[in-house]
Amino acid sequence: MNFVASSSGPLEWNYIAANFGYLASVVMFMLAIMRMGRVKTARSGNFLAAAAMLLAVVSSFVEMGKINPAFIVAGLIIGGAVGAIMAKKVQMTQMPEMVALLNGFGGLASTLVGLATFYALSGGGNLAMMMGRDGGWFGAINLVLTLIVGSVTFTGSIIAFLKLSEKMSGRPILLPMRHVLNVLLLLIPLAMGVAAVWYVNNPILVGLILIGIVLITFVLGVTIVIPIGGGDMPVVISLLNSYSGIAAALAGFTIGEAVLVVSGSLVGASGMILTQIMCKAMNRSLANVMFGGFGAEPAAGGGGGGEYVGVKSADAETAAMIMQDAQNIVIVPGYGMAVAQAQHAVREMAKILEEKGANIRYAVHPVAGRMPGHMNVLLAEANVPYEQLFEMDQINDDFRNVDVVLVIGANDTVNPSAKTDKSSPLYGMPVMNVEEAKTVFTMKRSLGGGFAQVKNTLFECPNNYMVYGDARKTLEEIIKALKEG
Ligand code: NDP
Repeated sequence: MNFVASSSGPLEWNYIAANFGYLASVVMFMLAIMRMGRVKTARSGNFLAAAAMLLAVVSSFVEMGKINPAFIVAGLIIGGAVGAIMAKKVQMTQMPEMVALLNGFGGLASTLVGLATFYALSGGGNLAMMMGRDGGWFGAINLVLTLIVGSVTFTGSIIAFLKLSEKMSGRPILLPMRHVLNVLLLLIPLAMGVAAVWYVNNPILVGLILIGIVLITFVLGVTIVIPIGGGDMPVVISLLNSYSGIAAALAGFTIGEAVLVVSGSLVGASGMILTQIMCKAMNRSLANVMFGGFGAEPAAGGGGGGEYVGVKSADAETAAMIMQDAQNIVIVPGYGMAVAQAQHAVREMAKILEEKGANIRYAVHPVAGRMPGHMNVLLAEANVPYEQLFEMDQINDDFRNVDVVLVIGANDTVNPSAKTDKSSPLYGMPVMNVEEAKTVFTMKRSLGGGFAQVKNTLFECPNNYMVYGDARKTLEEIIKALKEG
C-alpha cells in the first residue's frame, strides 16, 4: 500500500485493487494476532495470518501490473518448498531454533530491502537528497535504521540458533569490556548513518558507508548475543522476533509500504509483550537476561544446598495403584515431557484414569519447557481437551485439595525453594504449589537439576515419590499396570 499514488494521472485499476488487497490483509493480520492469544483459536489464527500474507503477496503482483513475475513466483515456490520441508521435519523440541532462524532471515530480508532501495536510487548528493521528494531525510533515516536493526537481528538470531542447536557452547561467552564494546558498536554505525544522511555528498561514498554500517552491526548482533546463556535463548529469540518486526516496519517506511509498516509493528509489539511476559514469569528483568551472563558459572546449591536427604521413590506399578483410586488428579508437565515426547502417553493414561472415574486437570506453568506455550502445543498435539488445561494462577490455590499430582519432567517450575530460599537463583519465580497435594509422583531420570541447576526441595518432601526413568517409558508402564489393574 503505497503512501503516495504512483502516478499523477487517474488511478489505475490495479493500483486500486492492490490497495484493497493490502487493507484486507492488514485487517486479517490483526484478527489473526487476536486469535493467537487463546489456545483454542490459535491454530485458526495461524491459518488466517498465512492467508493474509498470501493476499499481501498477490496484491503486490497486482500492483506491479506489467512486471513479469516469473522470478518472484520461482522464488516463492523454492522458498515455500524449503519452508514446508523444514517445518515438516523439525522436532517440537527444535522449534525455538527454527523460530530463531526465521527471525534471522526476516532481519536479513529487511537489510536487503534497505540496500536494494539505495541501489535503485539515482541522482547525486547525500542520502537524504538521493531519497528525493518522496522520501527525503525521513526515508533516509529509516533506511539507515532498517540496516542497523535488520543486521543485528540477522547475526544475533544466527548465534541464538547455533547455541540452541548446540552447534556452539550454550555457556555465556563474556568478552572483556563487553558493555563498552557494544555501546561503541552501536554508536559508530549511528554516527556513520548521520554522516551518510546529511554530510557525505558523494553517492559512492554513501554506498560504502551503508555497507560499513551493515558489517559493523553484523558484529554487534554477535557480541550482544554471545554473553547470554543457551537456556535464556528463548527470551532472546522473542526479543529478536520483536526486532525483526521493527526492522520490517522501518523497511515499510523506507519504501512507503503501509502493509509492511502495520504487519512489522504487530510483530514488533507482540514480540516485546511476549518478552516481558517471559521475563516476569522467570522473575528476571530483561536487563538481567541481556547483560547478566546468567549460567556462566553453575549455580551454587540454592534451595537449601548440599546433598539430598530422605528422598523416597516408587515404581510405575505403585504409582498406577495409587492413581487408580484417586478422584482428583493434576498433571504438571515440564521440559522433560518434551524431551521424552511423552505427551501422547500422558493423554492415553489420562483417558484410562477418567474411565475409572478420576477428574483430570493439567497445570501449565508459563515458562515450563523451553519456549512460550511449549506445553500447550504438545498437549494440543495429543488432543488434550482445552477445558482440562489450567494456567498456574487458575489452579495454584487448589493443590491442597488434590489427591495426586503427577509431575512429568518438570523441575524448576515445581521447586518450593523458589518461595523461601533467598540464595537460590529461582528465588521469587512463581512456582506450582504441588507439594501441597496429598501425594506427588515426580517422574524424571535422576535427581539432576533443571534449567537453573539448583537443588529441588520437592524431592525431599515426605509426600513426594520419585519415579525414576524416561517419562515416556514410565508412562507406558503405568498404562500397562492400569489396564491390568
Ligand atoms: P526444567 O528445565 O527445570 O527441568 C526439566 C527436567 O526434565 C530435568 O530436571 C530433567 O531431569 C528432566 N528430563 C529430561 N529428560 C527427561 C526424560 N526423557 N524423561 C523424564 N524427565 C526428563 O523444566 P521446567 O519445565 O520445570 O522449567 C523450565 C525452565 O526453563 C525454567 O527454569 C524456565 O525459567 C526456563 N526457561 C523457560 C523458557 C520458556 O520459554 N519456557 C525460556 C527460557 C528458560 P533428569 O535429567 O533427572 O531426567
